[in-house]
Amino acid sequence: MKSDKKDKIDRINKVSPSFCLAKWLQVTIDLVHGTNHSCHHPNRHKIPLEELAENASALHNTKFKKTVRKEMLEGVRPPECEYCWQVEDVTGSEPSDRHIKSMDHWAFPHLDKIAALPWDADVIPTYVEVMFDKSCNLACAYCISDISTSIEAEIKKFGPYKMLDPHRLSRHEPAAKNEDENPYVKAFWKWMPNIYKGLDTLRITGGEPLLSKNTFKLLDFFEENPNPDLTLALNCNLCVRDEILDKFLDRLDEVWSKGSIKKCDFYISVDTFGKHAEYVRKNLDYNKFIGNISKLKERFPQMEIIINATYGIYSIPHFKNFLEQIYELKQKYGWIVVDTSYLSHPMYLRANMVTEDFHPVIKDCLEYMGERPSEFGGKGFSTHELEKLRRVYHWVIAKRPSEEHNQNRADFYTFITQLDERYPGTFPEVFPEYKKFWAHCKKAFFFIKKLTTE
Ligand code: SF4
Ligand code: SF4
Repeated sequence: MKSDKKDKIDRINKVSPSFCLAKWLQVTIDLVHGTNHSCHHPNRHKIPLEELAENASALHNTKFKKTVRKEMLEGVRPPECEYCWQVEDVTGSEPSDRHIKSMDHWAFPHLDKIAALPWDADVIPTYVEVMFDKSCNLACAYCISDISTSIEAEIKKFGPYKMLDPHRLSRHEPAAKNEDENPYVKAFWKWMPNIYKGLDTLRITGGEPLLSKNTFKLLDFFEENPNPDLTLALNCNLCVRDEILDKFLDRLDEVWSKGSIKKCDFYISVDTFGKHAEYVRKNLDYNKFIGNISKLKERFPQMEIIINATYGIYSIPHFKNFLEQIYELKQKYGWIVVDTSYLSHPMYLRANMVTEDFHPVIKDCLEYMGERPSEFGGKGFSTHELEKLRRVYHWVIAKRPSEEHNQNRADFYTFITQLDERYPGTFPEVFPEYKKFWAHCKKAFFFIKKLTTE
């Protein structure tokens, strides 16, 4: 590990071995349901309307979150941060997100100031992610009704999945029928004038942010209230109708070229290659997605594009084809980064339930990336990109109890057989590479079913 990175990690751990700046400085706020989480890994928790009535900063600084911060300051591992504890407890020297996020430019410079604050202080975040609306044209297999109207429509049409933890069902009631009547959206616009000057990044998520009128309203806001240090970012599925994307890009061009914001980054999501990606992200047009990357880069060559790959069981067979295609785009345009994370929920789509014969397939991808090195944002794969996939690899190959694998494989079979009744294309047709593995899952399903009905 390079020494400045080690020094930073030592300084973070010196505050406490469970301290993480993301709990103070980063927040994802779901205005549709009135929830938030810091960072995006823990479950979302409710923002009580009583707290919001007293103070709009409760959009981030809830009483609940303050107690979690207290645990962190005292060196206690908050259970909600299990995502990081799992990484920190397996072999491999890759840092956890606790370290990666705390070392980021929006966090690390504030370390001493934050560590010295009382645990119950209200903090202005530097990195805000906000969801105005859950309208989404896709229905990804790992996503839920709470953040996609397409999944909500699917559940309405077909009902809940049988014999499963209902991962696709709504967990929270919407706070209002629409954006205009929503008290959380109103509180957000009340809070914005207090925080926008200190913001490093404002990231809009969804649903699909390009389908929300508040995304366009934010561009108006920054035109009237410039922050030349601000990075505007969008989590975009890059598969909306052309006229919607073009309308946004025209407006962005006006605001960005005036210097009202520093820049605009696109965080786009795809988890593997071609028809495998389309199988997982229902309604995705993979070729259109790839074509739209070129559209963004040709219009805004300086735009930073981060591809979030949520690595699940479906990612493994053709991830290398995906990397090859992205490598070509990197060569042509530069600044296209692959950011890979392992899928944790739902457990039955996790990559680590795969049989061991697939482990070398992931290793092959690591070699492919390692043979094409470059600096971060360059024309090859940076250490950061390689480390993120290596971290997934170590997590996949770490030993887990066989009962866990059997349960996940049985649940995978339960979920996929029902998913295949709802959408075109079936798993055995799209993933012939998994013929043997699919038979394992089927066997696990019938075995567990027999045990539970005896
Ligand atoms: S410890 Fe990990 S899960 Fe918790 S806030 Fe930090 S990065 Fe997120
Ligand atoms: S594009 Fe995003 S919000 Fe829409 S279904 Fe997929 S993961 Fe969910």
